[in-house]
Amino acid sequence: MSISINAAFDSGNIDLTMIEGDRVDLTIRADHLSEFYQWFHFRVAGAKGRTLTFRILNAGNAAYAFGWPGYRTRVSTDRAHWRLAPTDYADGVLSFTHSFDSDVAWFAYFAPYSMERHQDLIARMAAMPGVQHRELGTTLDGQAIDCLTLGTGPKQVWLYARQHPGESMAEWWMEGALEKLTDPSDVQARALRDKATFHIVPNMNPDGSRRGHLRTNAAGVNLNREWHAPTPERSPEVLCVRNAMDETGVDFAMDVHGDEAIPANFLAGFEGIPSWTDAQGEKYYAYGRALAANTPLFQTERGYEKAKPGRANLSMSTNQLAERFGAVAMTLEMPFKDHDPSPDPEYGWSPDRCKALAHACLDTLAGFVDGL
Ligand code: ZN
Repeated sequence: MSISINAAFDSGNIDLTMIEGDRVDLTIRADHLSEFYQWFHFRVAGAKGRTLTFRILNAGNAAYAFGWPGYRTRVSTDRAHWRLAPTDYADGVLSFTHSFDSDVAWFAYFAPYSMERHQDLIARMAAMPGVQHRELGTTLDGQAIDCLTLGTGPKQVWLYARQHPGESMAEWWMEGALEKLTDPSDVQARALRDKATFHIVPNMNPDGSRRGHLRTNAAGVNLNREWHAPTPERSPEVLCVRNAMDETGVDFAMDVHGDEAIPANFLAGFEGIPSWTDAQGEKYYAYGRALAANTPLFQTERGYEKAKPGRANLSMSTNQLAERFGAVAMTLEMPFKDHDPSPDPEYGWSPDRCKALAHACLDTLAGFVDGL
C-alpha cells in the first residue's frame, strides 16, 4: 500500500513535496492573497505499522517562525483526542515522527475546530432557552457571521473569537463559554445572565477557518487591523460586528486568540489609547489579577509589551473598543505550546483546557461585572 497525504477538507492545509522511504516532505500553503502561513492540517493514510518522519520544509519562513522552538505537533486517530507528537525544529525545518498503529491519522498545528463543528455549536446553542441567534452579516465567501445573545442584565458584554482563523483554540474557548453560560444549574452563570447581556460571536473569520488560513480572510486581510475603518470589500466581518456593537454599546469585551511563541495564557490590554485613564486601565488589570487568583491556568508575569502613552494601534479591536466605548476590553491569548505553569505532557494546551479557562474567565467576570 502506498502512503497518501490529503488536506482537501474543511480547514485542511498542506502540500506534498516528496515521499522518500519513511520520510515525507511537506510545505504549508500561504493564506490566499497573503504571505502569512503557519497553520497546517492534513491526514495520512496507508502507513499502518510504519514510523514516518514528516518534515515541513518551509517552516523557517512561516509568520512566527520564532514560535517553532518548543512547539509540538498534534496528532489524532479519532479526531477527538489530539496528542503531542515528538517534534523538532532545526535549520528552518519542522520535523515530527509518528508510529502508525491505525490505517489513518490526522496532524494539525492545534486541535482543529471545523466550520462543520461551528454549525453544530450554533444549532445546539440557538436551541437553548433564553438564547437568541442572529446573523450579523455575511463574509466574502458568503458564510454567515453568527451572533448568540443571552442574558437580561444592563451591562453589555461582547465575547468574540477567531479573527485569526488558525488560532482554533479560540473557538474551543467559545464552546466552553457558551456551555457554561447556558447551564441552568451554574450559579455564577445565572448571576451573569441577570447582570449582563452577552453578545457572542464564536467565529469572526469563517472563510479563513474553512480555507485553512493562519491569519486572514478570503481577501488576505488581517481582520484585527481593520477595526478603525472596516469596509464591505475588505472586512465585512468586522464591519457587521462593529455596527452591532454600536447599537448596544460595550462595557466589557474579550477578543480570544492564540499565540505562537509564549508558553502561557495571558491578556493584552489597551494601554496607549488616546482617552486612557488609570481608572479604566485599573479595571482591566484588576480583572487579570482576579483571574490569576482564580485558576492555575492563568498568569500575569508573561505577555506582550505594553504600548507607550498615545501609541495604541486603533485598528486592533481591543484598542478600538476601549477608545470607542470606554469599554474594559482585552485580548486573551492562549498558547500553541502549553501553559508552562501547569503543563500537560500528553496533550499540551488542549480543547478541554481551553474550555476550563473559559469557565474561569466567566467565574471571574461574575465577581467583577457590578463594577464595570
Ligand atoms: Zn491572533
